[in-house]
Amino acid sequence: MSYQTVNPFTDEIIKTYDNHDDAYVEEAISKGHALYKKWRNDPIVSRADALNKVANLIESKTDELAKILTLEMGKRLIEAKGEVAITVAIARYYAENGAEFLKPRQIQSSIGPAEIISRPTGVLMMVEPWNFPYYQIMRVFAPNYMAGNPMLLKHASNTPMAADTFERIVKEAGLPEGAFTNLFIDYDQVNKVIADDRVQGVALTGSERAGQLVAAEAGKHMKQSSLELGGSDPFIVLDDADLSEIKKIIGGARLYNAGQVCSSSKRFIVTEKNYDQILDMLKQVFGEAKLGDPLRPETTLAPLSTTKAKRNLTKQVRQAVDSGATLVFGSVEQNQPAALFEPVILTDITKENPAYYQEFFGPVGQVFKVKDEAEAIAVANDSNYGLSGVVFGKDANHAAEVASQIETGVVFVNSFGGTLPELPFGGVKNSGYGRELGDLGIDTFVNKETIVTK
Ligand code: NDP
Repeated sequence: MSYQTVNPFTDEIIKTYDNHDDAYVEEAISKGHALYKKWRNDPIVSRADALNKVANLIESKTDELAKILTLEMGKRLIEAKGEVAITVAIARYYAENGAEFLKPRQIQSSIGPAEIISRPTGVLMMVEPWNFPYYQIMRVFAPNYMAGNPMLLKHASNTPMAADTFERIVKEAGLPEGAFTNLFIDYDQVNKVIADDRVQGVALTGSERAGQLVAAEAGKHMKQSSLELGGSDPFIVLDDADLSEIKKIIGGARLYNAGQVCSSSKRFIVTEKNYDQILDMLKQVFGEAKLGDPLRPETTLAPLSTTKAKRNLTKQVRQAVDSGATLVFGSVEQNQPAALFEPVILTDITKENPAYYQEFFGPVGQVFKVKDEAEAIAVANDSNYGLSGVVFGKDANHAAEVASQIETGVVFVNSFGGTLPELPFGGVKNSGYGRELGDLGIDTFVNKETIVTK
């Protein structure tokens, strides 16, 4: 496996990175483990200043860091700057709140007073994807750094420059050796890391397949794991929805980051009353998208992350159409160069069509006509995934009632919320388990140690 920076807009190879050998990995684990022993006894709050320093450094290098994302995985520059900003916000959030979230808790027992103390568990492995290269790292790094768990990163093979840059910033901020080590390693080496006694958990964001394989390794060695996988997220439009509000957000809900967002809206489920208008709206918004160079400000739709991703998505669209879906916008053939992918809208997707249960990780909208709200809920839940969802209805209480019937980890009512440091995020069903962000996001790899005194 080779770690390579390839510009998805031009398909030009920018840089190739050498893999790290086992000796390098051993040193990283060993340094991390020594640090864990020390951090176990340090006050949690003592780590906050350094995390703020990481945040300040990232913020001060926004332009440089954003450009790396655009070059490496094709994100539009403005979106890349947005990613840097949320990455900074997550670091600051945990620097400010981490110690409070983990403060000891007293309870009374029949034996005597008891205290629940949050302790780190040890070195962690994180396996992260290319779609938000800094943000995905920070979601795991910031809470676990505060908790006292040193970290090893295996980033996606197409975003090595982002991984390398993140590590450089952590060093520049003065964090001790072993606190965070980026590893350019293959899958076998990841498995060896997970098997190591000094490593106590693994957090993965990515595909179902990667999640299954990595979690199976973790299970084999009785290590804690958290999985944030894909989603085929429903966007439900109820009869009383305010269509003018939907118009403001529907493009971003599907096309942001070239549609490569686990929690972006992928299935638009619309009651008969609004179906034609929503379909027209989507066609208009998709038609206005300016596909092109992600460095140029006039571009509103970026290329996909790689030409391989383009091939896979094209294959999925072809299979959907061959299986009976109607292509109402765009075309099956993708004739643009490199990883550029013209947006597509599919309708008439029956349960027999493989597309019905698939996640389309790119600018492809699936639109479903349903007769009423009950059918909307049924279609939304008829999915192997359960990550996030959106419900639009003017009666917000009623829309929230509908939202409560959607089987996902998060639902936004009358907005497309995206991500915020304080909002816990994660899925159910094949979208994974565990939560990242918010107060819940710091608990996954923490030992809640109970000390009872008679
Ligand atoms: P992958 O799941 O293959 O990649 C995600 C990360 O997992 C990468 O770092 C990858 O490394 C690593 N990985 C994959 N398999 C293993 C393994 N057996 N052992 C250790 N590490 C592993 O996603 P893809 O990039 O192939 O994207 C495919 C699909 O995944 C998308 O179409 C989408 O459905 C989903 N996805 C979901 C994301 C989310 O945010 N939830 C993000 C990205 C993808 P390497 O790059 O070296 O293969």
